[in-house]
Amino acid sequence: MKAQSESPLITVLPDHIANQIAAGEVIQRPASAVKELLENAVDASATSIQLIINDAGKSLVQVVDNGKGMNEADAKLCFGRHATSKISRIEDLFCIQTMGFRGEALASVAAVAQVELRTRTAESETGYYIEVENSQLVKAEPIAAPQGTSVAMKNLFFNVPARRNFLKSNAAEMRHIIDEFSRVALAFPAIAFSLHANNQQLFQLESGTLKQRIVQLMGASYESKLVTVKEETDYLNIRGFVGKPDAARKTRGEQYFFVNNRFIRSGYLHHAVMSAFQGMLAPDHFPLYVLFIDLDPQQIDINVHPTKQEIKFEDEKIVYAFVQAAVKHALAQFSITPTLDFELDASIQQLSSIQQPFTEENKTRAADSSLFRSFTQKNQAHLIQPTGFRPYPTDWTASEPTPAAPLLQHALEEEAIVVMGLHNSYIVYQTSEGFWLIDQQGAHERILYEQLQQSSTEKPIAAQRTMFPITLSLPPADAALLTELCPSLVSLGFLLEAGSSGEFIIQATPATIQSGKEKSIIESLLEEYKHYNADAGYSMREKLIRSLVKHRRIKAGTTLSQKEMRQLVMDLLACKQPGQTPDGKPTYLAFSNSYLSSLFGK
Ligand code: ADP
Ligand code: MG
Repeated sequence: MKAQSESPLITVLPDHIANQIAAGEVIQRPASAVKELLENAVDASATSIQLIINDAGKSLVQVVDNGKGMNEADAKLCFGRHATSKISRIEDLFCIQTMGFRGEALASVAAVAQVELRTRTAESETGYYIEVENSQLVKAEPIAAPQGTSVAMKNLFFNVPARRNFLKSNAAEMRHIIDEFSRVALAFPAIAFSLHANNQQLFQLESGTLKQRIVQLMGASYESKLVTVKEETDYLNIRGFVGKPDAARKTRGEQYFFVNNRFIRSGYLHHAVMSAFQGMLAPDHFPLYVLFIDLDPQQIDINVHPTKQEIKFEDEKIVYAFVQAAVKHALAQFSITPTLDFELDASIQQLSSIQQPFTEENKTRAADSSLFRSFTQKNQAHLIQPTGFRPYPTDWTASEPTPAAPLLQHALEEEAIVVMGLHNSYIVYQTSEGFWLIDQQGAHERILYEQLQQSSTEKPIAAQRTMFPITLSLPPADAALLTELCPSLVSLGFLLEAGSSGEFIIQATPATIQSGKEKSIIESLLEEYKHYNADAGYSMREKLIRSLVKHRRIKAGTTLSQKEMRQLVMDLLACKQPGQTPDGKPTYLAFSNSYLSSLFGK
């Protein structure tokens, strides 16, 4: 073995290299600088913030704010590592009120780019200009400047070519920038924001409400498509909006959670929202949501790295249950469901904090909070108080609450139901408050869907034996698929026996299926099922149910008798979610008498 030389192998890295390495954690791409600089402007109490981008941020990211600015001493200090005005004691970590607190952002930006700072406080007559490059101060001089701060980051990674090569296409980097911009803009709707890229204005967001901000960012089509979510408890508050099911989109990107006003990613809470929407969305569709969860900072781990956008809750399951219940409650109120009871997930019901959520002293106060009341009501997440007819999709009769229970009783007496068919496609249903215009096909889809969902192995759909055994021959691929489906089909009323070489003997089909149609229904069921097969999001059973619904629904154009129309209305009213088809489309529009009078100028 060769003798080791006496000189040490370990060297202490020069500052500028150490800074570059540390900076890599904070500034990965132009969008990271966008986030940090916007948050600094927010922390500086700005009421108006401009973001200026050139070349997808590769040549310029600039943030101009009208906040409190920095004096000369702070302007020189702010680029140092661990330079922050936001915390000074470790205890401060547990009551952070600002977006930043680590004092790393400006130091990181200065380590990997050329930075120009212009700033002035209200008290000072002159402003200061500071230029930093490669963590070195290049220039510092007084200048004339408006109150506030402008930070321009130029030529990102000019001194770290390897990382510069790592950046994606301009289109991809710009998408990241718009994402970060949108998150900050959603969290602070009272602040005006603008975004210019290559001298073109992309966004001009006025100060306003959260709802206005969502519409400004995501498009006017959401104007009438947002449902308010608002629940307050002693443990946490949830506020924000979810999009109506029919506004759901196939691409993701309009889902936002903020915890104590900080954007977070959480697959777990996303699941909570999706489960609240269950049975209301078309395959592969995602609803918009912008939800703010506010809770005691003690209940979350603040020490997770701020750029990671992940969060640890002290009790994740409770947050999940609250989010799910809050969204269900909001959706139920919007779909004017007469009385809905949502079963809480069994595992969550067992949690001691659900059964006794609060300490003894808090209980009286807590009893007034809506979520607590509903959680304790026979373990039901919510007993919905009817809020009246909300015509779909606008809100013009929302001011006339109508008790829904009497409506249900009235509806159940069949003779009392007054209906009229229109174009063999719609049903006009007279109510004491006005009338509903029901889409017969959509309504029937909802009814079938819920009936099929209620079936189980113990309680299968009523089946009827075939008079003579019917043999169905299928090509090998279809035969393999049907063999796989056979067990799940039993609870849905189908009894099939697999024979040899692709043959099946049909023993029984649902009682509602006409004799002679047994073969064709199974064939078309298979065809429908194949359409859904690519959707990984659905269980086999859900796919089967949706396929059966598609096949068995009463199509538009089918003439219905008075009796059939009345039955359809009764069945619809008995549904848990009468307002939407399983794909999230409206099943009826409600018109109030007062709205009708107003149309005629009365
Ligand atoms: P942090 O935000 O974690 O404190 P930064 O490196 O982002 O760390 O900023 C360092 C300090 O510089 C801040 O604490 C603040 O005092 C000051 N600062 C940064 N940006 C601004 C700004 N836009 N307006 C006023 N002060 C600022
Ligand atoms: Mg900061």
